[in-house]
Amino acid sequence: MTCDFIDLANEGVQGLQPYQPGKPIEELQRELGLSDVVKLASNENPLGPPASALAAYREAAGQLHLYPDAGGFELKAQLSAALGVEAAQLTLGNGSNDVLDLLARVFLDSDSSAVFSQYAFIVYPIAVQAAGAKAIVTPAKDWGHDLDAMAAAIDDRTRLVFIANPNNPTGTWLSESAVRAFMAKVPENVVVVLDEAYCEYLNEPAYPDSIAMLADYPNLVVTRTFSKAFGLAGLRVGYAISHPDIADLLNRVRAPFNVSVPALAAATAAYRDAEYLQRSRELNAAGMAQLEKGLVALGLQYIASVGNFIAVEMPAAAMPYYQALLKKGVIVRPVGVYGMPNHLRISIGLESENQRCLNALQEVLSEA
Ligand code: PMP
Repeated sequence: MTCDFIDLANEGVQGLQPYQPGKPIEELQRELGLSDVVKLASNENPLGPPASALAAYREAAGQLHLYPDAGGFELKAQLSAALGVEAAQLTLGNGSNDVLDLLARVFLDSDSSAVFSQYAFIVYPIAVQAAGAKAIVTPAKDWGHDLDAMAAAIDDRTRLVFIANPNNPTGTWLSESAVRAFMAKVPENVVVVLDEAYCEYLNEPAYPDSIAMLADYPNLVVTRTFSKAFGLAGLRVGYAISHPDIADLLNRVRAPFNVSVPALAAATAAYRDAEYLQRSRELNAAGMAQLEKGLVALGLQYIASVGNFIAVEMPAAAMPYYQALLKKGVIVRPVGVYGMPNHLRISIGLESENQRCLNALQEVLSEA
């Protein structure tokens, strides 16, 4: 007799659906026998990894028999010097996803709730539910976070608020004055997570100086990643910047060796590589302009985005278009799981990749 294992899982996990990643290139190649596939589905950096990080990664290969430095001394020293924070304010994660999960595990349980917006990054509902807590989802405003609604939704069981700035998959963003006005309304015993996974792409003077804001709001936690503008999504390195007492709590549940030897080495090198970061930004800005122009020419609406992706509204349900694009070797991301069934999210690629995507879109539109 086999046991019904689902009954053994905790209640939150019983109701969870696994995160659906972008389709891997190899999978599409296997399925359709295509060789020339373009993937614009996971907000990865089209430049490839920084050469500086690759060199550090190769050098670290000789130490693969050793556990990593659990405290991440060198990477933290570099981050703390650059950001002007204490090393004790930093928590390293296996991607910033890991840090988001740690925050949920530390602050949530079955008696508590977390607030986030409709269309917010999907890891928030997953982390909240896995922790057995209640999710309070506020309606979006113009596809972005309605901070007034979010502040009003906080109740006496709320322990966490997640804000994606900019948000994935919508690409909307919030100014410092908006975030400060929100923080002024949030009780001190509610921790606000400002997820800045895409912050390096922004060139907006009104974008929050969130590190400076930490001094004013001890209940603020900022999360960032090496997966996007630093080109290291495959290595999995992210971090939180917070009050040292919050970092201490996160460290209690963090797996001791959650960032690997080569990941620490490569991230340390990438963070120093100002030239790569600049190229990332420039390529993204040019690619965004190229895609926006191409989408307008195709008569498609999109949500204005400051990230490395853009959500495009198709004339009807997006899934058939997604499937048709796959047949042409172009992988984008359907966002039906976000409650956006007519949108496709396209990550910004190299100029040739963006053009290939636009050409494929034109074909599938004319075939529909
Ligand atoms: N936050 C947001 C808003 C994201 O879009 C992503 C990546 N999709 C992450 C966090 C997590 O990225 P990573 O774990 O690679 O740092």
